[in-house]
Parts: sequence; C-alpha cells; structure tokens
Amino acid sequence: MESEALRREIRKIALKNASDYGAAHAGAVIGKILSKFPELKNERQMLSEEVGRIVEEVNMLGKEGIAREASSYMEEFEAERQAKAESSSKHNFSIPGAEKGKFITRFPPEPGGYLHLGHAKAIFIEDTLRSIYEGKLLLYFDDTNAENEKQEFVDAIKVDLEWLGVKFDKEYYASDSIPMLYNYAQAMIDGGKAYVCLCNGDKIKEGRASGIPCEHKAQKVSTNAELWNKMMKKEFNENEAILRFNSDMKAINTTMRDPTLFRIKKAWHYRQGDKYSVWPTYDFCTPIMDSINGITDTLRDKRYEMRDNLYYAILDALGLRKPRITSFAIVEIANNVTSKREIREMIKDGRISGFDDVRLATIAALRKRGVKPEAIREFALSFGMGKSESVSSIEALLSINRRLIEKNAKRLFFVEKPISLIVKSIPEENKKVSMEANTGGNHEKREYLLNNVFMIDEASAESVKEGAILKLMDLFTVKVTKVINGSIEAEYAQPQEPYTRIVWLNEGNYRSCVLINIGDLLSGDNFNEDSIKRTVGFIEGYVDKLTIGDVVQLEGRGFFKLDESKSRSFISL
Ligand SMILES: [Zn+2]
Repeated sequence: MESEALRREIRKIALKNASDYGAAHAGAVIGKILSKFPELKNERQMLSEEVGRIVEEVNMLGKEGIAREASSYMEEFEAERQAKAESSSKHNFSIPGAEKGKFITRFPPEPGGYLHLGHAKAIFIEDTLRSIYEGKLLLYFDDTNAENEKQEFVDAIKVDLEWLGVKFDKEYYASDSIPMLYNYAQAMIDGGKAYVCLCNGDKIKEGRASGIPCEHKAQKVSTNAELWNKMMKKEFNENEAILRFNSDMKAINTTMRDPTLFRIKKAWHYRQGDKYSVWPTYDFCTPIMDSINGITDTLRDKRYEMRDNLYYAILDALGLRKPRITSFAIVEIANNVTSKREIREMIKDGRISGFDDVRLATIAALRKRGVKPEAIREFALSFGMGKSESVSSIEALLSINRRLIEKNAKRLFFVEKPISLIVKSIPEENKKVSMEANTGGNHEKREYLLNNVFMIDEASAESVKEGAILKLMDLFTVKVTKVINGSIEAEYAQPQEPYTRIVWLNEGNYRSCVLINIGDLLSGDNFNEDSIKRTVGFIEGYVDKLTIGDVVQLEGRGFFKLDESKSRSFISL
C-alpha cells in the first residue's frame, strides 16, 4: 500500500475515533488499521510510529477542528456505517429451542431509579425476540426493596417505555404477590427446605465463607414453623431473623450456601404501605414470579449467571415449572454513571440536577437532550445478544442520532465574537435573500432583507487582508478594501478564485443566543468540571420561527436542539 494512501486512512480513522470519543487513541486506530489491512502486521513498528504521530496531530486540532475535518469524510463514514449496520443486522437474535407462538418474556425493572441505556439493551432485545417468536412481552415491577422504591420511579419508567415505543402485553408487581410468596415460604418450611436463622450478619457471613452451617440449620420443622410465625406477627426487629434456603453450605458456587429467602424490613412501601414487614429477596421472588406468570424465557445480564443454579433450585424445591434462562452481556457507558446509588449521591451534592440531567445516560436525560427513540433502539441492538462485554459512549449514540436528525435540522449561521464587515455597493436586487433552511425535502427558506453591515467571527477575520476575496456563505462574494482595527470594509464583487468562505450574520437580522455544549459527565474517575460549557453568541433571525425541540445545524459547530426560547438556549447533540 502506498504510504500516502496509508497516512490518509490512518488520519481518517483517527478523526472518526476522535469525533466518537473526544480524543483519538493510538491503540484503537492501530487495531482498526490492522483489521482492515492485515498484511501490515509485519510492519507494526512503522505503523505504530506513523499512527502515534498522526493521532497526536489530530488531537491537537481540538474539538471543532476535528469536527470540521471529520465532516470532509462524511460520505466514507456513512458507507462504512452502512456496511457495519448490515453486518450487525445479521446479529443472531434467537434462543435455541424457542418456538413461535410459545414465547413469553418479561422486562423486570426495579422502581428505585430511572431507566438508562443499559436497560435499553435488554428492552430492545426482548422486544425483538417477542416479535421474532410472535410471543408476549410483560412488564414486571420487581418492587420488594421498600427503602429504595417510589411511585415516582414507576411512573417515570412507564413514561420512558412508552416513549421508547415498546408495548407490553401485561403489567404486574412483585409486591402484589406477597401473600402467595408467603405460602411458598410455608411450603418450603414444611418440606424442610427452609429454616429460620437467628444469627447476626457477621456470623452468617463467616459461615458462608467457611462453609460451616450454624445451629439453626438443624432445627426441627416445627421450630422453624413457629419462628416463621413469629416473623409474620412482627415479633422480631430488623436483622433479628431471616428465612434461609436449606441448601448446601459446602457448595462450590457460594450463592448456593443457604442464601436468604426472606428478611425483615420495617420501611414504608410505596405500594403496600406498612402491610408487610417480611420481604422476599430477589433470589426467591424472581424464579417464582417468572414461573407462575407463564414466562418461558428469562433474559438476564450475564453477571447473574452464578445465580442461575439458585433460580432453578428454588423452582425444583417447590415443584414449579422452570423457564429457560438466556444471559447476555451488558454494555457499559464510558465516562458516565448508571448506578442508582451514585446518581442519587450526585443529585444530593448538587453536581447534577436530577435523574434527567442532560449529561446522564438515563432514558429521561437522553429524551430531554433531543435523542430520538429510534437512535436508542439502533444503538441498543447494535451489540447483539453476545456475552462479550462492550464499552460504548453517549457520543456513539449521538452519532447514530445525528444521522436521523440531519434531514430536518435547520441550517443556520452562528457567530460567537462578531466584528463588523461593511459592504459597499451591494446591488438592490441582491439585498433580498432567500436561502435553504434545511437539507431535507421541504425547501423551507430563510428570507432576509439585508443592510450593508455584516457580522463575522473574529476568528475567521484574523487572516483577512486587504484585497482578499470573501465568499459570504450562500450569498455573494466581496472584495476587502480596508482592514482597520475591529472592522473590515469591502465591496460587492463578482465571484472569483481563490476565496475564503465566511459565515456571516446581517445587522438587520440577528438575535443573541446561548450554546450549551454537553461533555462527558466524568473525566477519568472524577466529575468533569467542564461537562457543561456555555457559549454566548449570535444567530440568524430565523431562530424566531423555531419551537422548543427543533434541531439546528450550525455551520462549523454541529447540531443543537432549542431548549429554551426566551434566552434562545441550545443544547449540543
Ligand atoms: Zn443461624
């Protein structure tokens, strides 16, 4: 391969990498090059030097420079994306043994927080399988942790799911089935398969680690029944008694070492009030709820694989039908936070405004930001059902989203630090302009009546010298006659080369506005203090015609969504 062609390819990949992840990484670029040109494996030294140099150059360009140069490769990126989309549409969404018309699965959120991109992967895989197998998808609220759960979260989850466009055939709540779960507990006790343990937390932990049972494991059935009865009558305090599975304290899989089935929690429950103080654990509740609700296929995160044995052991102990479990890998979102606990902490200390803070990867945040549900679907399904974990980014989602919003985005000019450009002798007929407002099919126009004072960005004016030819974008050409401190004078001219393309505003038709650039929430392990950057500037008068939620493509700045119309605030997309 010609070295010039190779350098171009490296630069292109580095630009793509940088625009997807904020900065180009040599390792990632080398990986991409080698998968494209495996013959270069023998020239790794040369390759890594070349890549190192180019990655450094690209990262020096800064965010805007990268975006500008990357845009010249748009068509190639698009072609590559399509090829990739084609191969990812070949992702195998199937479950060995599953049958058409006999498939029922469920999506099991806990109403202790908001849904995020990780949940979206499960939701869309389940929704896809439901349609492939012409089956059913149920919504199961796993709500047995009173301290964390709220009606607010149930409502928010339903709003998110509806917005994502996923329909459910039925909705049910674990907490509505507590009496039934008590009956199963009673059956376990009566059959000698569960016992009440009065040990303290430390002792229980020690016993599990060492594999040595406590004295309660040997209790008679009648004693367990009595103690369970006392638990039911609220005669114990929290942590004084638990119901444990009479399993195998020596099991190699430690989740099988007599796990907890019920514990005492005296917190107020958002749905059941103070009706219950003995609550089932996830491990007891899930298999039973799945089995009795007719679930044929349970899909879950592969981090739960260690618990699969326990899931089946509970059902065996009760003689209940066993759903099939299929595990898939989660997708992690780089430089962001999805843990409910961590999000709650950041809300508490004021670093973020709520679960829908636009920097988060929650569905509510992405909706508020202006991401389309179709983009989330495509993103979620692009990882397939495989078990290899992947790290992705909000930027990767945004790049899918940009492709979806591009057509309807209004193309407008923005100037950050204006200096004046006075243009003499503009012919009258050229003062009335009509320019395309978007690249889509509806041919809306931006129409202005111009005067002779223009505003151009200080940065683009820096290199302008007397005699230079400037092409005011979508407008006419002018020739610079005078450059004085803080302003430029020019006269209307016939098109001629070479010229410099210039973004402009006209004094008769501009408004002030604010661009809010959203960056990564985290930088390394720390909160990114620059995760929100505000740029005050000026935009075309066409802005008056926009309504909240409309998307603009600002020349040289990228895509933004109108978020607030009084101050004309736009959020980066
Ligand atoms: Zn004990």
